[in-house]
Amino acid sequence: MSERSAGIAIVTAFPDLVRSYITTSVIGRAVESGKLDVSVVDIRDYAVNEYGQIDDYSFGSGGMVMMLQPPEQALDAIADKSGRHVVYPSPQGVTLTQALAEDLHRVSRTKRLVIVCGHYEGVDERFVERNVDLEVSMGDFVLTGGELPALAITDAVSRLERGV
Ligand code: SAM
Repeated sequence: MSERSAGIAIVTAFPDLVRSYITTSVIGRAVESGKLDVSVVDIRDYAVNEYGQIDDYSFGSGGMVMMLQPPEQALDAIADKSGRHVVYPSPQGVTLTQALAEDLHRVSRTKRLVIVCGHYEGVDERFVERNVDLEVSMGDFVLTGGELPALAITDAVSRLERGV
């Protein structure tokens, strides 16, 4: 794929929360003017049934995790494997630094940078094994969901784009 402006997709169960950030202030203006291409994908569009189910009990922990199928289908609708770089925010990941933001910015100019937000106890472990290129942590603490990390990554990557 040839180089273009940064392209990011955020896969989330809380699209309104994410949209409110990416339509506001510096990022909002950059998206509006076309300097950035940031899309929000509602994971419930890929729910497994008519009740909008995306979570199930995990065999391991017994807690609720995001099922395998909804985020996998969302990824395939965004781009094929060679056209995407999938980041999963996770306390177990590598810590977000300026150097990592610069790496992700470079990636986002040739592939779609897709950030998949987990919630409850995270996602089905098979999703991470099969689809995730990099797990990224905000630090040594645990949040309730991946939306704040996804927005922090998006913000840090976006401001590296020329003119943002
Ligand atoms: N049991 C999970 C674990 O230990 O990884 C914690 C899940 S947490 C309650 C729910 C989601 O929030 C995670 O799937 C992840 O996407 C996000 N999250 C929580 N803390 C984070 C952190 N420090 N950095 C990045 N993402 C985090």
